[in-house]
Amino acid sequence: VSRKWRVHPTVLDLGDDIRLGEGSLSIVAGPCSIENEAQMEAVMQHLVQSGVRLMRGGVFKPRSSPYSFRGLGLEGLRDFYRLARQHGLRIVTEVMQVSQVEEMVDFVDVFQVGARNTQNFNLLDALGGVDKPVLLKRGVSGTIDELLHSAEYIFSGGNEDIILCERGIRTFETASRNTLDLNAVPILKEKTHLPVFVDPSHGIGLREHVAPLALAAVMAGADGILYETAPVPERAASDGQQTLNFDESARLVTAMRRTYALR
Ligand code: PEP
Ligand code: MN
Repeated sequence: VSRKWRVHPTVLDLGDDIRLGEGSLSIVAGPCSIENEAQMEAVMQHLVQSGVRLMRGGVFKPRSSPYSFRGLGLEGLRDFYRLARQHGLRIVTEVMQVSQVEEMVDFVDVFQVGARNTQNFNLLDALGGVDKPVLLKRGVSGTIDELLHSAEYIFSGGNEDIILCERGIRTFETASRNTLDLNAVPILKEKTHLPVFVDPSHGIGLREHVAPLALAAVMAGADGILYETAPVPERAASDGQQTLNFDESARLVTAMRRTYALR
């Protein structure tokens, strides 16, 4: 995945004029968890109105407590994919284990590997063999170099459609959920030809500070921003504390586009 191996930046083509990577700013937005059809419909309408083409949403959720909501599973994914297609949207959703890859592959546009699975090498090997792009998040306590090596697992398996995503790391700081490492953006852009995204929602974990960090990430050189938005964040089944409502989300989309134009 090194720039020494390939000088030209990798741009992923998802069809329908949706391209991810250098040359444009990609926006991926949606709820932390897919919860029901009404929630999906509301988010999809909001995204279409805002001109956002990619929706995120988990159906297999890695939760710190096993008693928390763990997602709608494969059945939820089929509904998510079907509704997204009706709205002309592409979907990004997390895969947690090898056995899910085959079950999910026909119903995803981009597989997400979450921060708890960045070094699940068997999962990375399996994703090296599919023909769907992979958004690979940085590990909870992972270094930049470890992230790049994880990407090598997928790349060397034959799947070269990879997006790297900085989502905050665990540090000694407790004032925020994680410490968003914006240093990673220019460093990754220098080292790799792959698209580099930033997830400010998990990066800071506090709704009121998501937008400024998203804009900072755009200025730092990110090729895309992934964030959480839902109809009523206060009632979300997961990560409501860092989820934007639609007004905040619409304002952020406008601000990100303006900021990107300044680069
Ligand atoms: C998520 O995107 O909802 C998620 C669980 O992210 P991460 O793996 O970065 O914690
Ligand atoms: Mn989340």
